[in-house]
Amino acid sequence: MSKDKKFVESITSRDVDFPQWYTDICLRAELTDYSSVKGCMILLPGGFAIWENIQKGLDKAFKATGHQNVAMPMFIPESLLQKEKEHVEGFAPEVAWVTHGGANELEEKLAVRPTSEVLFCELYSKIVRSYRDLPKKYNQWVSVVRWEKTTRPFLRTREFYWQEGHTVHETQSDAMEETLLMLDVYTKFLEDYLAIPVIRGEKTAKEKFAGAEKTYTMEAQMYDGKALQAGTSHYFGTGFAEAFNIQYSDRNNELQYAHQTSWGVSTRLIGGLIMVHSDDSGLVLPPRIAPNQLVVIPIAQHKEGVLDKAYELKEQLENDFSVIIDDTDKSPGWKFSEYEMKGIPLRIEIGPRDIENNVCVIVRRDTREKITVDLNNLNSEVTRLLNEIQENLYNTAKERLESRIYDVTSYDEFKNVADNKPGFMRAMWCGKTECEEAIKEETTVTSRCIPFENEQVKLSDKCIYCKEAAETMLIWGKAY
Ligand code: AMP
Repeated sequence: MSKDKKFVESITSRDVDFPQWYTDICLRAELTDYSSVKGCMILLPGGFAIWENIQKGLDKAFKATGHQNVAMPMFIPESLLQKEKEHVEGFAPEVAWVTHGGANELEEKLAVRPTSEVLFCELYSKIVRSYRDLPKKYNQWVSVVRWEKTTRPFLRTREFYWQEGHTVHETQSDAMEETLLMLDVYTKFLEDYLAIPVIRGEKTAKEKFAGAEKTYTMEAQMYDGKALQAGTSHYFGTGFAEAFNIQYSDRNNELQYAHQTSWGVSTRLIGGLIMVHSDDSGLVLPPRIAPNQLVVIPIAQHKEGVLDKAYELKEQLENDFSVIIDDTDKSPGWKFSEYEMKGIPLRIEIGPRDIENNVCVIVRRDTREKITVDLNNLNSEVTRLLNEIQENLYNTAKERLESRIYDVTSYDEFKNVADNKPGFMRAMWCGKTECEEAIKEETTVTSRCIPFENEQVKLSDKCIYCKEAAETMLIWGKAY
């Protein structure tokens, strides 16, 4: 089959088979490909460019809040991984091990990092001596390995790219402030750049990170109503500091254990972008994260002056935006579908008649609206349209999220919504893990987060499951 044919063929409809639609987009928009390494993915230029933009945006925000980048080894000696009991127990089932170097068995096997708490802790135990050394706020951009049983491109892979921030502080309140600050940094990035609204809160004891005292999460809602844990920020208290002996002399010259945090987001965010915004014609990308914001497509490019004008427009637009041009001899129709598939927010068509009238036609990827624009106002019109697309994508996702959160007060209602209505549920909970587990077992719905105090609503006095006294409201949803 020729490449031309592949692109004009439509993909599976998202309302017919959502998982297949997702896979189709990953492959046809050329974001990723499979390799013979099971559960791992190849990030193609289209996918990696989105990741680079995510990195750029977040890295800037991390630095603006006082963080520095480092790079730690990718291996963890077994004895080091075992130092914090809860942490090692939580990660053990997913750890990949290196046992040999060439033909020789290693004296001590090495874990391929599933996350790097223990490496940071070992470092901090050496470099933190006094309150004057604090805080230490390090981050690294690396890949990690978790031997997941079921995998899906971007959403859950065995090797994934991410950033992991690891910080040490003098006091509990400093560490808690950092934990919540990073949740805010993530939230703002998701909302402003990825146009993804989130629900935030604390994970239950069952769902929190292995070794953390508290885990805070951002939960996004996909087009099919399922939740995606988009990022987490953990407060460790002094648990790791005690296991790794991270002590400092305080302002009264007394030895204290330091308070720690960690936080991470991964290439999973790209899966979220796809599943929140895209449609049956392919990828839809918010302009602020799109590697290419515009594509210029010459129409009847063999006619005199058309290509020259197209290059001129590209040059003019390049001052303010990321622009590509397709001057290949493929048909305009093929090009339209290809760049729709690839999610470029605006396409600019320029042909002989447009040139005569000093205009071009701009087509929005999100609404497909066609707008004729005077070339004298081109850059300002493009700015306006890109802003409108960014806003429209966010508002559409937000309205969808808000319209699909159901308040339920009986378990029958809970099961009914779980079976029939895509989205999240809010319900009261007694705080016991047994109830949470029973609900998951019976409905496949999992707890997503306990909303913050100011978003708590007392829907009833009783736990939705055991009917004993309720402790808190909990958000539930089927999840990726
Ligand atoms: P954690 O260290 O477990 O809190 O994970 C931090 C973040 O990494 C999560 O919130 C997810 O967004 C992401 N993540 C966790 N596991 C995977 C995976 N197997 N593939 C892709 N992203 C992941």
